[in-house]
Amino acid sequence: MARDNRSMAKQFSLPLDKAVLFSQNPTMTRSLRNLALPHIPGLHAYTPGSQPSGGDWVKLNTNECPYPPSPKVGEALRNFPYDKLRLYPNPRGEVLRQALADFYELSADRVLLGNGSDDILNLLVRAFCWETHHAVFPEPSYSLYPTLVAIQNGQARTLSFTQDMHLPEELFIGQPQETILFLTNPNAPTGVLFSQHQIIRLLESFPGLVVVDEAYGEFARESAIPLLKEYPKLAVTRTFSKSYALAGCRLGYLLGSPELIGLIDRIRDSYNVNALTQVAGLAALADQSYYQKIRSAIIAERNEFIRWCEEREWCTFPSEANFVFTAPKKEDLEGAEAAASAFAFLEKKKILVRYFPKLPLTAPYLRITVGRPEEMAAVRQALAEWAKT
Ligand code: PMP
Repeated sequence: MARDNRSMAKQFSLPLDKAVLFSQNPTMTRSLRNLALPHIPGLHAYTPGSQPSGGDWVKLNTNECPYPPSPKVGEALRNFPYDKLRLYPNPRGEVLRQALADFYELSADRVLLGNGSDDILNLLVRAFCWETHHAVFPEPSYSLYPTLVAIQNGQARTLSFTQDMHLPEELFIGQPQETILFLTNPNAPTGVLFSQHQIIRLLESFPGLVVVDEAYGEFARESAIPLLKEYPKLAVTRTFSKSYALAGCRLGYLLGSPELIGLIDRIRDSYNVNALTQVAGLAALADQSYYQKIRSAIIAERNEFIRWCEEREWCTFPSEANFVFTAPKKEDLEGAEAAASAFAFLEKKKILVRYFPKLPLTAPYLRITVGRPEEMAAVRQALAEWAKT
């Protein structure tokens, strides 16, 4: 909108002739919305699962760990000399980076730390996806992938699962403009694991970078990590948020070829992992016996819950993650309506789970994070009550 030159001169203490030039400059009169890149105002932010502030929820909606981190993490944080917070952290988290490299028997130049694995996924999309560089990912899968591609104004091809949540292998054959593919493994939201054999088929069919997102990898039998040395176009992302119970710290990492790590290192924030998180991650990694115990407890509880759902003949996937994807039903109700009804019933009982009504393929299911035994007993009781209503 044109502005009055005199009032502009007054407002900005400018001589009148400068104010005339100023008001003729179109960027001075455009709204912020019009100054942003043209695709930004049309974006939708990623919607994370809700984090209610009241305390008395049974919270099984965001696949967090139901147990606290190792006591050694608490000790390490308490011993952190707080005056050190004046200083920037080690830019690459070298000590933790080396510890992860040792843990996986890889060289440190194959490891890059991130502010959660979301940070890593973001960096990968920034580096490999654009208008002419297309991304590929299954649907349903982690809904952050399309958000990141949209931020980059990139394009994506989605791989559609069959009704039984199987991905036909011919979909893996990519086009030359397809530069990056994301595969969540174990898959989310189903929890089903793609075998190493399938990952190899994918690596041999797809022309671009294959990112295996192993956010739930510690709960599964197999990993793509042993394939890294043989396949330079493979990348694996992992996180401390789930099995290490450190979601609040924000710590994830990328394993890949030294060339890939070098590329991503050029575009990350110099201090993308803060000093306290580095200390917490190091202490967590060192206490494997604690984590083996809590992972085994979660896996046992998961398998028991799957059995319980199957006894009711609810379609339930063989999860290798810390959540269960099941389609509740009762005498007079099944499908999407049953899932919506069970979700609402659980919510009234202050039990929070997740459901995905937007896609016909996912609408009949609830995704329930595996909690402590008493939390799972509460879910079973509530679902049994729901089935009787
Ligand atoms: N990948 C998948 C499949 C996830 O479900 C999540 C967690 N929502 C992440 C990555 C990101 O985890 P974080 O950023 O906490 O490491």
